[in-house]
Amino acid sequence: MSKYDFDLFVIGGGSGGVRGARVSAQMGARVAIAELNGFGGTCVMRGCIPKKLLVYASGFPEEFEDAQGYGWTIDAARFDWASLIANKDEEIERISRVYRNVLEQAGVAIFRERAVVKNAHTIHLADSNRDVTAETLLVATGGYPSRQTGAEGAECCITSDDAFHLKTLPNHIVIVGGGYIALEFAHIFHGLGAQVTLVYRGTKILRGFDEDLRDQLQASLQSRGIRLLLETGFRRCVRTATGITAVTLNGDEIEADHVMLAIGRLPSTYGLGLENAGVKLRPSGRVEVDAWSRSSVPNIYAIGDVTGRIELTPVAIHEAMCFAKTVYGGQPTAPDHELVPTAVFTRPEIGTVGMSEERALARGYTIDIYKTSFRPLKNTLSGRTERMMMKLVVCAKTRQVLGCHIFGPDAGEMIQLVAIALKLGATKDQFDATIAVHPTMAEELVTLRTKTATRTSKF
Ligand code: NDP
Repeated sequence: MSKYDFDLFVIGGGSGGVRGARVSAQMGARVAIAELNGFGGTCVMRGCIPKKLLVYASGFPEEFEDAQGYGWTIDAARFDWASLIANKDEEIERISRVYRNVLEQAGVAIFRERAVVKNAHTIHLADSNRDVTAETLLVATGGYPSRQTGAEGAECCITSDDAFHLKTLPNHIVIVGGGYIALEFAHIFHGLGAQVTLVYRGTKILRGFDEDLRDQLQASLQSRGIRLLLETGFRRCVRTATGITAVTLNGDEIEADHVMLAIGRLPSTYGLGLENAGVKLRPSGRVEVDAWSRSSVPNIYAIGDVTGRIELTPVAIHEAMCFAKTVYGGQPTAPDHELVPTAVFTRPEIGTVGMSEERALARGYTIDIYKTSFRPLKNTLSGRTERMMMKLVVCAKTRQVLGCHIFGPDAGEMIQLVAIALKLGATKDQFDATIAVHPTMAEELVTLRTKTATRTSKF
């Protein structure tokens, strides 16, 4: 009989924590989990899932426009923000209940309260004011949106957490940032009819992505009517009777209903008590872990955004699976952070996996580039002039496809499948040997025959 109340205590019921708890319990561990808010965490409650529902909602106006070229007349389409938000909330509640149910079915003990680490094996449950003990702790507390702008009045601004619960659709919203969240919300609000001003401190959005993707999206969002202010910072934000005024560093004043900060996320480690157990944090507050997600204290592990390795839900889930295999499955398994595909749900979307052209060159590869830009068939009758871009970054020596970058409709769906090929080490010749599915947009990925450039690394 173990001297602890539980074999495993998981702090945080997001995607990573729930998966870690459930799978460990299914492997025979006696597991408890603490979660203060709803199960599902950022992804389910205020991230990926509600965001994607809003993305769907914001896409309809363009579908209505496109339908006309196909013979449809759409009369008097009207949009009701309150209905969208209510329907979205209902669906989020349902998914959160499913998360809770799977935990219960796996026999996981659930504590709906704040857990604070007292020492390496003791957790204090704040609301019920009692201590429980566990042999192993798994920290999966995720993160929250940063407000660290350096500007006065950041407390007047909203973040993505608030954007999901606005009472009304803004007439004008200012969004600060040039990453995933800023770009996705800029397209959501613009698609639903709001005026959007995107304010970014750099010279080009989506730093770190392939340059062609960055160029394409930047041009596309401007041509859609999203106002983009580059190399712009804020001095202060001031609440007014009707909304908010943002004053830029060069003195310009922008009036809007809301200013939304999308400037990255911070780890939820404050007040968690990890220092009581001697867990080492990085200067950013993220938990420092080794290749097996183990912290500086041998029985305390951490997964997901709180470790800041790659802040994506499927990565947190993968890390959770590896944790369970390592600790309860007798198979030490380090998470694999190579070739993680990702999508940015703008309109159109970005789907990307593997190395950008710039990254491949920085790593010393000589590369062949295969790139195409074309007008998707659907855009012909609709009269839409937008083009799709696909790009393969290929190692000139081995012909292995190092990266794939897609800008266009359904890029997120496509990149998932391309990622399998890249994970298997597919070469360009194997892409070429694959028969196309016709007529599709994705067929271009296997019919790209003309090399558009060869580049040699300077490193
Ligand atoms: P990102 O890291 O993607 O982008 C942050 C943006 O804010 C960057 O453009 C950055 O500029 C800018 N920024 C940072 N600090 C400041 C500051 N002090 N003042 C002004 N601008 C600033 O973070 P997000 O908040 O967009 O998203 C957080 C994470 O969530 C992402 O990293 C992503 O992993 C995940 N996510 C994934 C999604 C998906 O899979 N579709 C969707 C949404 C989020 P600079 O480039 O100059 O540093």
